[in-house]
Amino acid sequence: MGQITLSKVAKRFGDAEVIPPLDLIIDDGEFVVFVGPSGCGKSTLLRLIAGLEDTSDGRILIDGKDATALGPAQRGLAMVFQSYALYPHMSVRSNIAFPLKMAGLDKAEQDRRVEGAAKVLNLTNYLDRRPGQLSGGQRQRVAIGRAIVREPAAFLFDEPLSNLDAALRVGMRLEISELHERLKTTMIYVTHDQVEAMTMADKIVVLNAGRIEQVGSPLELYRTPRNLFVAGFIGSPK
Ligand code: ADP
Ligand code: MG
Repeated sequence: MGQITLSKVAKRFGDAEVIPPLDLIIDDGEFVVFVGPSGCGKSTLLRLIAGLEDTSDGRILIDGKDATALGPAQRGLAMVFQSYALYPHMSVRSNIAFPLKMAGLDKAEQDRRVEGAAKVLNLTNYLDRRPGQLSGGQRQRVAIGRAIVREPAAFLFDEPLSNLDAALRVGMRLEISELHERLKTTMIYVTHDQVEAMTMADKIVVLNAGRIEQVGSPLELYRTPRNLFVAGFIGSPK
């Protein structure tokens, strides 16, 4: 569960080809980081995988099955939105349970999953609070909890820490890495921050104007950047 294959996937908005056809394989259980400058197409690529955008060309396979025509709810993936996407008038419990309620799961199963996620995320004592009564880090954990309860084949993160202050960001980075260690579920993580990419990734995908410049482990990219763009972006001389 959690293997994702992109085959000649392309995206155009009108005349603008934001993602020229690209191939990419994400292995089950990998922590993959899409990194590149602002506007290079990271979010678009993630949204194509999530099913929030339709591909202009190519195919997306999830665990070997063609998911290209499936909507976001049918893909079995969970997008983690920034913590400000929480419902302020609902308790933490209701926020985390929300996708399960929408999916029509019975109350006992909802409670079981919410409590399991709360335990993993150290939120057990906060389930009856509102988001406004939590710290920024706790709110981000609630947003992650809302993804965990769906037991997805992969988690998709789009710059989840960009609205947290620098100190909190370092802590959350570690928490997400630890969560990956514990769950061993595929994670795709979008960032423009080289340090996040280098410290969190099993595999980094360097994007530039919608093209993949290089795919490799942090060490591979650091030691053998393929070109000046990668070298400059990852921060090693070539
Ligand atoms: P990143 O996440 O790397 O900052 P995006 O994927 O958001 O980049 O955007 C890549 C390019 O696609 C940008 O030039 C952006 O303006 C364009 N773009 C993104 N979404 C749309 C859209 N819905 N319509 C038209 N252009 C878009
Ligand atoms: Mg973006």
